[in-house]
Amino acid sequence: NTEQQALFIIFGGTGDLAQRKLYPSLFNLYKRGYLKNHFAVIGTARRPWTDEHYHEVIKESIADLSDDEEKANDFASHFYYQSHNVNDTNHYVTLRDLADKLDEKYGLCGNRLYYLAMSPRFFGTICEHLKTQEIITKNGYNRVVVEKPFGHDYESAKALDDEIGSVFPERDVFRIDHYLGKEMVQNILAVRFGNSMFNAMWNNRYISNIQITLSEALGVEERAGYYETSGALRDMVQNHILQIVTLLTMNAPVSYSAEDISREKINALKSLKVYNADEVKKNFVRGQYGSDAGLKAYRDEDQVASDSMTETFVAGKLAVENMDFAGVPIYIRTGKRMKEKATRIDVVFKQMPVVVFKDSCLKSDVLTINVDPEPGISIQLNTKKVGQNFDTESIDIGYSLSDEQKAEMPEAYERLILNALRGETMNFARWDELSYSWKFLDSIRKAWDDEDLSVDAFPNYACKTMGPKASDELLEKDGNHWEF
Ligand code: NAD
Repeated sequence: NTEQQALFIIFGGTGDLAQRKLYPSLFNLYKRGYLKNHFAVIGTARRPWTDEHYHEVIKESIADLSDDEEKANDFASHFYYQSHNVNDTNHYVTLRDLADKLDEKYGLCGNRLYYLAMSPRFFGTICEHLKTQEIITKNGYNRVVVEKPFGHDYESAKALDDEIGSVFPERDVFRIDHYLGKEMVQNILAVRFGNSMFNAMWNNRYISNIQITLSEALGVEERAGYYETSGALRDMVQNHILQIVTLLTMNAPVSYSAEDISREKINALKSLKVYNADEVKKNFVRGQYGSDAGLKAYRDEDQVASDSMTETFVAGKLAVENMDFAGVPIYIRTGKRMKEKATRIDVVFKQMPVVVFKDSCLKSDVLTINVDPEPGISIQLNTKKVGQNFDTESIDIGYSLSDEQKAEMPEAYERLILNALRGETMNFARWDELSYSWKFLDSIRKAWDDEDLSVDAFPNYACKTMGPKASDELLEKDGNHWEF
């Protein structure tokens, strides 16, 4: 494992994301030898913390991952805290001095990774100051990692991208979509382009429909303030679900390179049919959870309006209008307070054109990619039922990761941070991809905003269910059903 040399500057170093995801991921990279002696981290935020306090916070956030105190101490000693208000120019001067000092102390060759783990409204001002206060180095690489949400519609995403783009070229902008860092999401391309069996069948001659489910068991928790302005469509569909749709429907890339893959992903997104208002009504379902099983209704959550029309559930039928996928419905579904937490893809193949076995009821073949919580792949096939008679039955052939493999499997953030250190852009969303996905989303959002939906339309699904009835009916209209 080649050691990476870099200075991390984490804006929002006291925040939830930094403590729950970033510090543990950096520690795993350190344990695996990707980070050794030549790295340092500056955490910045408003609070006036000392380095000593910061080290305690770091050690606490990695406590579950370490039983070696010396290692934890050594890791934490690479962390420096800088109290900082993003709007105060003087603070960037102090930040630059500290960055230059650490660069020399740890031999970091001018390599810098700026992680913006705070509200996007600060991205512009941070990037501008990185440039004007010459924190950006001339001798090493300078890469910026940004979190979702990347805008709330096409216009705002474009404005945000312009602000970042005025300082960082596209190749140095790493837009996190952590689903792209998941083992089984990355496996989609391996299954599709590593097996002639699937490669041959991956089109509208053999595939009946594709189903993507990202269900959450939790409600909005303490993120209600943000969620009220976002909703499930912006929070989950624009990024994670559309990225998965593109991996499932893109044409074969010429090579496994960021350039070639992104080109095909963009073509897949360009082929997505953008719906008019009538089509949105026909093809999309929105929902909001009510109270049930002792759980609060969405409208009763803190920071949520009592007549909120924010959707906590979306189901939709997408149409990809290219040669291979025209006519194949892509059903998507995501929501909060659903039956269980799961991320799963079902590719349902067409029934046999003729059934030669009398009285047999053949099921569709289904390829299932389980992303979470139990990563694995399974195939549902028809076989002969054991016995004297010739009956058929549907069986499952399954592969799930062993405990050793799961222990070896990097967490999404760990993988993505290493990608950014290595300058590998493949698992990040490019601006062109975002621009198409926002335009697709905006048409749905506009149709919903223009529709005068009555306040009584919500809540329309109970907690611990798979969403409103209309979500099942969306498939039933086509003679299909949710496999999961
Ligand atoms: P948070 O509120 O816990 O942390 C925000 C951080 O920004 C804090 O460190 C705070 O001190 C700092 N900050 C705020 N205003 C500042 C200012 N004027 N000057 C300097 N520092 C300031 O938020 P979070 O949950 O860590 O999320 C950070 C970003 O990551 C958000 O954009 C969020 O949408 C995104 N995100 C978070 C998660 C998650 O799991 N928490 C997941 C995906 C995306």
